[in-house]
Amino acid sequence: MTTTATHLSSFAHRMDPLEVSTVREILKVTEMPEVISFAGGLPAPELFPTTELAQAFYHVIREEGRLALQYSTTEGYTPLRDYIALRLQTKGIRASANNILMLSGSQQGLDLAAKVLLNPGDKVIVARPTYLAAIQTFMLFEAQLITVASDDEGMDVEEVALKLRAHPDIKLIYLVANFDNPSGTTLSLERRERLVHLAQQYGVCILEDDPYGELRYRGEHLPPLKSLDESGLVLYLSTFSKTIAPGLRLGWLVAEKEIYQKLVIAKQASDLHTSTLTQRATYYYLTTHSTDEHIARLRAIYGERCSVMLESLARYFPATVRWTKPEGGMFLWAELAPQVRTEEILAEAIKEKIAFVPGAPFFANDKRHNFMRLNFSNQVPLQIEEGIKRLARVIARHHS
Ligand code: PMP
Repeated sequence: MTTTATHLSSFAHRMDPLEVSTVREILKVTEMPEVISFAGGLPAPELFPTTELAQAFYHVIREEGRLALQYSTTEGYTPLRDYIALRLQTKGIRASANNILMLSGSQQGLDLAAKVLLNPGDKVIVARPTYLAAIQTFMLFEAQLITVASDDEGMDVEEVALKLRAHPDIKLIYLVANFDNPSGTTLSLERRERLVHLAQQYGVCILEDDPYGELRYRGEHLPPLKSLDESGLVLYLSTFSKTIAPGLRLGWLVAEKEIYQKLVIAKQASDLHTSTLTQRATYYYLTTHSTDEHIARLRAIYGERCSVMLESLARYFPATVRWTKPEGGMFLWAELAPQVRTEEILAEAIKEKIAFVPGAPFFANDKRHNFMRLNFSNQVPLQIEEGIKRLARVIARHHS
């Protein structure tokens, strides 16, 4: 039998900087039923349309089984791509099925975009903080991550301008403009326009990751960066994970012709195509039910959970803690006193049967340890209030 050491020495260098994801490790703890978890990015499972999806899968296998169970094209199921194109047009994105690549989850879009665009050492701008699994993807392609600050209006675009001026070899800007993971913040309209303008000025691609855009609870929808883009430099990513169910593993990418063709080649080499059965069943579900009604229901329920968390934080958390006030999505982001380490708070919180994600892994570099990400979509209001009350006690004890 080979030893572990022999195995380790044979791993590719690209694996060197990556550690086991703390979030995935925490999720193991939160699977215990008695824990009130604000940790995962999980949608509420009671809102999955299980009966409707059961009917859809049954229908598709029975009526279209020979096609639905067969290999298919890499680009994806055309009627589903047409359906998505129509919905995107209502958001101002001028897309047709020819621009839409179906993905096995939008996470695959991060991987494919990085594969197609980045050589080792290429520079990518991300926010401080940003989506943990985007950091991991860019690191796997040995990119150099350049971070810019973010505040209540999202990524600081003037710092982006400074970084673009200082590093002419920046290749890509990655961001979650709506209800960011982890911060919950939304990029203002002014900043959207400025960022698209900067991308054009410097010839840099933007990867606009938008899994949460449909889940707005307050305020007005803002135009996607992709809808403001005349140059074809914006790649737009979204998913059915938050509006139907993440277990479908079904997302999509919108790109212009030249890069689209490269992405198709990369996807072909990666997994040939996304599940034909899932694409057809999802299309059947979408066209036999009102998506808008389903999403309106999600908005009402998650919106209430978001409000309950904000009210509970205001009532129970120590005055020294600051937090963001999301208008949608699934997360908010709390900043504790600078000397506090949320990893230590988590260890104590777990004893009280509370979980959250410490903020450090969401910083690509210069990790800061006094932040926590709190998810509000996966707990009912009573549990949210109880969980925040208990977490507040742990924080107060820790402070004293
Ligand atoms: N991007 C962001 C910002 C996310 O939060 C997530 C899900 N956690 C994803 C991408 C991946 O989503 P999926 O692969 O399920 O579509």
